[in-house]
Amino acid sequence: MIPADFDYVRVSSVDEALSALRDGGEDAKLLAGGHSLIPLMKLRVAAPAVLIDIGGVRELEGIRRDAGGATVIGALTRHATVAADESLGLIAKVAKTIADQQVRNRGTIGGSIAHGDPAADLPAALLAAEGSVTVRGSGGTREIPASELFVDYMTTAIGPDEVLTEVRIPSMDGWRSSYQKFNRRQEDWAMVAVCVMLRTAADGTCDAVRIGLTNMASTPLRATAAEELLRGRPLTAETIALAADQADNGTEPPEDLNASSDYKRHLARVLCRRALEEAAH
Ligand code: FAD
Repeated sequence: MIPADFDYVRVSSVDEALSALRDGGEDAKLLAGGHSLIPLMKLRVAAPAVLIDIGGVRELEGIRRDAGGATVIGALTRHATVAADESLGLIAKVAKTIADQQVRNRGTIGGSIAHGDPAADLPAALLAAEGSVTVRGSGGTREIPASELFVDYMTTAIGPDEVLTEVRIPSMDGWRSSYQKFNRRQEDWAMVAVCVMLRTAADGTCDAVRIGLTNMASTPLRATAAEELLRGRPLTAETIALAADQADNGTEPPEDLNASSDYKRHLARVLCRRALEEAAH
């Protein structure tokens, strides 16, 4: 399949990207790893008039820790780099499950989050980690918490004239985690996936828990009913099963070629139990 005609601009700084976005108007699109946008263009689902290639913007690459212990990941950091950094814990674990090595070598964390696909792996992890993104636009810089970022199917709160520059993950010290992804083949997209972060009190009860769901609605979302059931309770097989039974509460999983809505609900409950068990023990 051949995309519609487009102009191509390669930029080397965020400032250049912002001015190219301004010049290109509403038909301009940023290109990072191209592993979501190019397939959509080939299918003619997307037909931007101008592609602004940010692949060479070095200031958007790399991983650092800030003074408060948060990890700050540049938007252009490849999935492979994130997956290889064991100090990133849950985020590295999740990045390792994305597609195959070829896709992980090109795809970027910023592209994955800005794309807003509810079937993508990192958005649910960002939600569970209560992370945020920094975006820069002509009006300046702003931070968007994960809870306000995913608005609808492939729609985020990032403006068309803004560049996602950084992804911020608060310190995960003291948290245990698990990511359970269900797919037919190892490198496939998630049919459903569940991301759990869990902290226990000294007496073994659940002090805090956050559960992120992948592909269970038009956006990634938190399983709040399951979280509420577990908070402050002992982490026994019974309480975990009770909470996991609520994992699909409030979700609207879209039926697709792989699974019916009911089957996805079933998967969410099973994967939630497995993720809670792994994180608890
Ligand atoms: P691009 O395709 O370049 O861009 C995607 C969108 O984000 C575009 O709209 C673009 O304008 C916008 N954008 C990009 N960067 C920025 C930025 N800095 N600021 C603002 N907007 C920006 N993903 C998974 O999570 N799990 C999988 O299992 C999985 N399997 C895949 C299998 C295949 C065969 C392929 C081709 C892709 C798969 N992906 C999967 C998607 C992959 O992770 C993509 O790389 C990712 O979703 C998009 O990142 P990208 O850098 O390629 O973004």
